[in-house]
Amino acid sequence: MEKIAEYTSIKKAKEDSHAHRIPRPCGITVHPGLGCPNNCLYCYLIDFGLKFREPKPYKLNGFEVCLSLLYNKWFVPGKMGTFIAIGSVCEPLHPIFYEKTIDYLKSFAKYLENPMQFSTKMFLNTDQVHEIVEAVNQQPLNPLITIITIKNAKKLEPNAPSPDERFETISNMRDAGLKPVLFLRPIIPGVTDEEFEQILERASNAGAVGVVAGSLRISRKILERLKKAHIDLHPIKKRITKIKEKQIYLKATDLKEEALKIAREFKLIPFRSACCANAFNASVPCANVCWTTKFCTNCPNNCKQKQIHITTEKINQIVKRVLNIQSFSLTTHNDNIEIAIPKDAIKNLKIKPRGVSTLLKTLLRKKIKITYIKS
Ligand code: SF4
Ligand code: SF4
Repeated sequence: MEKIAEYTSIKKAKEDSHAHRIPRPCGITVHPGLGCPNNCLYCYLIDFGLKFREPKPYKLNGFEVCLSLLYNKWFVPGKMGTFIAIGSVCEPLHPIFYEKTIDYLKSFAKYLENPMQFSTKMFLNTDQVHEIVEAVNQQPLNPLITIITIKNAKKLEPNAPSPDERFETISNMRDAGLKPVLFLRPIIPGVTDEEFEQILERASNAGAVGVVAGSLRISRKILERLKKAHIDLHPIKKRITKIKEKQIYLKATDLKEEALKIAREFKLIPFRSACCANAFNASVPCANVCWTTKFCTNCPNNCKQKQIHITTEKINQIVKRVLNIQSFSLTTHNDNIEIAIPKDAIKNLKIKPRGVSTLLKTLLRKKIKITYIKS
């Protein structure tokens, strides 16, 4: 790509945060825009200083963002590579960002071929859905459609399209051959759990293939906004010991499990995390190796059967190349790899342990544990 890139694009791509960030468990987040006019009361963006009223498309075009990702030493290109999560600090299919997101999808499909996903609350008509299908050009896409309440949507998501329109988006996607997944996140205790049955049944009838259930992030500001909208805060407050300025995940495993149980009744594939839905849609082993954790719901993707078979010698070579040091020892056992690094070698380690384990996890599809030993 560098050979066909202009100097200014190379400079922009190298300096951009997409070239440096360590991927999150669900993949590398890619931003077609910053900010969001939907103004959802539970949104965590405002705590990060991003303004709802000043959304801006991102400065890089699709080609440049691909280049930027390829400069990122933690990013693995290709179908078996790092999962790409589009959005996260914006609504990627809002009219302000729509063209940019289509450009990103086209470029990812053309230059990278990594499994990709977005989450959206937008209404997408059949023409728009076909535009998305053409953009991804048969590369894997995991479309997540967020619906967390029907009754309280106007209050909680004042500028977003109605849940009825979002159910229609699901139908349009399914008719176009995609496998849309309901994004039941964030589950707001006292709100979402009151409507589990209705939301899941309607999603299933609309053509969703599965559901990802997820918790709410809470901070003092988010609670204040919910209170102003007359949302009953008791079911939330009884799950937290102290309200903080900083965002924390609300403990809601019981609610997630309840939602997933109901989902099964409506023939929806239950997922405990978005990376699993992405793996399912791409038909590759989960890049976060979730089948070795309690996050696995034993979905039809059957990651265990799709594992990479690789010799210890090859693993050793890959680890050596990633760490760029000679002195380490390696223990492999089933899906686990333990790497012991002598403490005095750490200073030669120019890379961060979190990045190393994320990168190796993606490359090898094994659980990675790094320990430090006396030299
Ligand atoms: S649509 Fe998403 S990004 Fe936009 S305000 Fe709502 S939660 Fe935040
Ligand atoms: S088999 Fe388990 S780990 Fe793999 S995608 Fe399905 S739920 Fe996730």
